[in-house]
Amino acid sequence: MSRVNGPVDVVIVGGGVMGSAAAWRLAARGRRVTLLEQFERGHHRGASHGSSRIYRQAYDGQFHTALAARALPLWRQLEETTGTRLLDLTGAVDHGLPDAVHAKARSLTELGIDHTLLTPDQAEQRWPGIRFDTTVLFHPDAGRLHADRAVAALQQAAADAGAEVRHTSGVRLIRETTGGVEVVLDDTVIYARHVVVAAGAWTRTLLDAADLTARPVLPPLRTTQEQPAHFVPVSDADWPSFVHHRGAQLTGEGIYGLGSIDGIKIGEHGTGPQVDPDTRSFVADPGGVERLVEYARTWLPGVDADSARVDTCLYTTTPDSNFVVDRTGTVTVAAGFSGHGFKFGPAIGELVADLADGIATAPEPFRFGSRQQVGVS
Ligand SMILES: Cc1cc2nc3c(=O)[nH]c(=O)nc-3n(C[C@H](O)[C@H](O)[C@H](O)COP(=O)(O)OP(=O)(O)OC[C@H]3O[C@@H](n4cnc5c(N)ncnc54)[C@H](O)[C@@H]3O)c2cc1C
Repeated sequence: MSRVNGPVDVVIVGGGVMGSAAAWRLAARGRRVTLLEQFERGHHRGASHGSSRIYRQAYDGQFHTALAARALPLWRQLEETTGTRLLDLTGAVDHGLPDAVHAKARSLTELGIDHTLLTPDQAEQRWPGIRFDTTVLFHPDAGRLHADRAVAALQQAAADAGAEVRHTSGVRLIRETTGGVEVVLDDTVIYARHVVVAAGAWTRTLLDAADLTARPVLPPLRTTQEQPAHFVPVSDADWPSFVHHRGAQLTGEGIYGLGSIDGIKIGEHGTGPQVDPDTRSFVADPGGVERLVEYARTWLPGVDADSARVDTCLYTTTPDSNFVVDRTGTVTVAAGFSGHGFKFGPAIGELVADLADGIATAPEPFRFGSRQQVGVS
């Protein structure tokens, strides 16, 4: 084994959206950063691949709404820095259970974020591809992020700011040493003052094996294989991002969706089977696909319901769906993004950078420790 030349300030483990965002924000501050990803560039084995993710600010409570709002100028800054279009503001719609819709409207009102309540008829005139349920909330500063391009742009911006970005570089062990940590790869040991673990579904295994005096206490992290489907649109109508909250006319699972370059994407939130990220099948559950087809047939007149094309992706979920972004000793952890983290990417990167620099403490909802099952969205 050989040791790399000189120590770095921060090694980041995990080249998904969170590790890449942390690499960008730390490198932009002038820190010497190495980002390590176990798989090849653009791989499809984690949580951050594909052509689309919803960007929205409508959450229950001000904390997540404010965090999403904070991410918006950072996404725009990333677009400018890299010359890449990443975020299309198509607007977003919540509909269905009135309590769920009004709770989100309240957060937007409290933070002065533009929004409108519509009747289903008004909404159907505006977005004829969707049949709306009961109560409709629209907010315009929302839409669609291009996920693959966003991860590539974050890594490019990190590299342009001086970070070393390495793929096919799996970390085998993290161990504490005098004044820092050693990050052990197959053929190299990297010495760093601090390590950030943003390893998605692999986070617990890596931290359980780590040799550290101050050990992070993680909440339970549940990894599931989820399966969104894309449908072919039947017209060129506009599509907002949307969440259909169950409980009014919708009796099954809540559904999210959006228009993307791959078609109209819809999915259930966190209903997939629990899996091991290294041995999962990548095969979609036929019952779940049938539910999405049935949903499209009933609620999406703007798609060909017989055209479903299914992909798989990982959720790593905490009991209360709040993220884990906290620091102890020489380790900062960014994990447990519970199927709704992408939109916050650069804001989480900024928080990780503050934690690694020792200039902030974790906000209460993101702290280590066990969690109650309450849900946030
Ligand atoms: C189907 C689906 C739809 C979603 N829709 C939305 C949405 O609309 N809006 C939204 O905001 N969010 C959405 N999300 C959630 C969002 O995509 C995730 O929260 C986010 O991508 C999590 O990123 P991550 O960096 O934590 O994890 P990952 O992308 O999994 O990255 C972790 C990385 O760490 C690497 N790694 C692990 N162990 C090691 C090691 N030992 N050495 C080196 N590298 C290692 C892995 O290979 C992986 O690349 C969705 C997720 C899914 C699955």
